[in-house]
Amino acid sequence: MEASLTARDRVGIQDFVLLDAYTSESAFLDNLRKRFHENLIYTYVGTLLVSVNPYKDLDIYSKKQMDTYMGVNFFELPPHYALADNVFRTMLSEFNNHFILISGESGAGKTEASKKILQFYAVSCPSTKLLNNVRDRLLLSNPVLEAFGNAKTLKNDNSSRFGKYMDIQFDHRGGAVGGHILSYLLEKSRVVHQNHGERNFHIFYQLVEGGEEDLLRWLGLERNCKNYRYLQGDCAKVSSINDKSDWKTVQKALSVIDFSESDTEHLFGIIASVLHLGNLLGIPNQVLQQGLTHRKIEAKTEEVLSPFSVEHAVYARDALAKAIYGRTFNWLVNKINESLVNQQDSSRKMVVGLLDIYGFEVFSVNFEQFCINYCNEKLQQLFIQLTLKSEQEEYELEGIEWEPVPYFNNKIICDLVEEKFRGIISLLDEECLRPGEATDLTFLEKMEEKIGGHPHFVHKLADKNTRKTLERGDFRLLHYAGEVTYCVVFLDKNNDLLYRSGKEVMQHSKNAIIKHCFPSSEPDNKKRPETVVTQFKNSLVGLTEILTSKEPWYVRCIKPNESKQPKFDDVLVRHQVKYLGLMEHLRVRRAGFAYRRKYEIFLQYKALCPDTWPNWKGTPAEGVRCLIKHLGYKTDEYKLGTKIFIRHPRTLFATEDAFQVC
Ligand code: ADP
Ligand code: MG
Repeated sequence: MEASLTARDRVGIQDFVLLDAYTSESAFLDNLRKRFHENLIYTYVGTLLVSVNPYKDLDIYSKKQMDTYMGVNFFELPPHYALADNVFRTMLSEFNNHFILISGESGAGKTEASKKILQFYAVSCPSTKLLNNVRDRLLLSNPVLEAFGNAKTLKNDNSSRFGKYMDIQFDHRGGAVGGHILSYLLEKSRVVHQNHGERNFHIFYQLVEGGEEDLLRWLGLERNCKNYRYLQGDCAKVSSINDKSDWKTVQKALSVIDFSESDTEHLFGIIASVLHLGNLLGIPNQVLQQGLTHRKIEAKTEEVLSPFSVEHAVYARDALAKAIYGRTFNWLVNKINESLVNQQDSSRKMVVGLLDIYGFEVFSVNFEQFCINYCNEKLQQLFIQLTLKSEQEEYELEGIEWEPVPYFNNKIICDLVEEKFRGIISLLDEECLRPGEATDLTFLEKMEEKIGGHPHFVHKLADKNTRKTLERGDFRLLHYAGEVTYCVVFLDKNNDLLYRSGKEVMQHSKNAIIKHCFPSSEPDNKKRPETVVTQFKNSLVGLTEILTSKEPWYVRCIKPNESKQPKFDDVLVRHQVKYLGLMEHLRVRRAGFAYRRKYEIFLQYKALCPDTWPNWKGTPAEGVRCLIKHLGYKTDEYKLGTKIFIRHPRTLFATEDAFQVC
């Protein structure tokens, strides 16, 4: 703990629970700001970690720094690695599974935080030669997945365009023995279209900029992004990104993760062929040409080929490019997972799960962002349930009375999106079942009719009094984190149709990955596949199940400004503090008992009562009773259940200070 009051004044307080003027948002903000300017970007609210993106490199992530955290008490050193270390030690002492939920809006620092945690485990865990191998693969899976799944957006030069949940598996000694990654809904529409100021996935630029001459020649590529339609955004070059050196990193990573030469060849063959979709998939030109320009229609006894209009052919081509990229990405994740399979035959393994999912985006307008924001609503809901629920249950279990703290429950928004029959997802899927009749506008009308009166749904009829006018074809959702206006281009993307002719053509490919990704046994269009949003919804149900079976820990990331600079914008930070529910979380921690200590642990202060110890013979509970009597704790300051609960931090603080002196 910071030792003196003066130091505390300067650098703020590292745990908000210890802040005296705790009810005020301004005091909360002052403390964050103070610490931010001292480069202390991490602060606790109890055991929850708040992190503010510094937007500059801090010298706090070295091996030496990591070493100081191993085996030190949670509150003894400044936060950051302390959380990762605490999770690790709890896991080892209780033999159970944990997860760390890292949340915050796009650009708030989630991905960086998750990488730091992974690095901490990789560097600090006990290791052997075999384990080093696992460690390297765990670490190097990151640059590979980032190359294929991240892109420059307006919010973040390295924005994750897929959700990632990663289990790190440990043996009973704490050695990292394996891992497993689950990926969620890649934003594959980016392959064929990027908004102004944004880029396609990094890998395309890495290949074009960094690929060796021979490779490019073999792939028929030129070293000029402008030559490729899918890279024609206005910002191929980004000052914070070095595509050339990133290419080298990815190459090295692929070899460590066990990609054979032919895997790598096929992989880049695919990336190149997405770029000039056509001459490299090992498909006879004529077959491909026909597949891309005609559609198969089944007549009574035969199949006839009907030519596409130009518009339709472009659509079919883009659909194919997206499908190829999306499926290749899934193949990549599986391939990485194969290399992370637990090599040791340890029957008992424990995991720490790291969840780094795409952040809430306020200014985006399309279908993918709708899914991303829905996902963030679900995670917020989980956070609310777990933090309030577990707190409540513990007090109940211990027979301690407490008054629930009011908070905004975003369940109402989750329901608006996912409720059966009348939620937005249901209405969208319903429209997707009426091909030829339904359009994005009929979907919008349906929403207006069914949920027009919902307090979190705004459409043009209801929006007369608000500041911003809605365009025809738009609707607005009042998310927990802010308002987002969505432009309704939803039906196509939700159907995600790939014409059968395109799919069949892929089956002629000699590329092993393409062959694997487009198996000939795939059910054809006659069987209706689940829509994109329904698949996503189901995958989130699966994720919630995975998470709720583990013990939760939280990192709440805050973005300090919109300009990616080391600056602290009060208004922006205040908004995030609000919607992340940090004040409520703090109030719950304060209204209840700020600290709880197992009796055995609290007895570390027994030196303060030298007359009784070391000859004490009673149980730990009796020992604690005796000790607090000696320390003069008043009856309203603590409660005894299966452990000691201490209401005010200052009580424990005083004891700790006395202990330091004695
Ligand atoms: P998110 O995943 O929340 O969208 P990122 O983790 O990708 O955000 O962070 C965005 C950018 O902010 C990073 O590329 C990096 O430049 C900067 N950043 C984030 N966290 C840190 C940190 N701890 N130290 C230095 N820079 C950081
Ligand atoms: Mg990210």
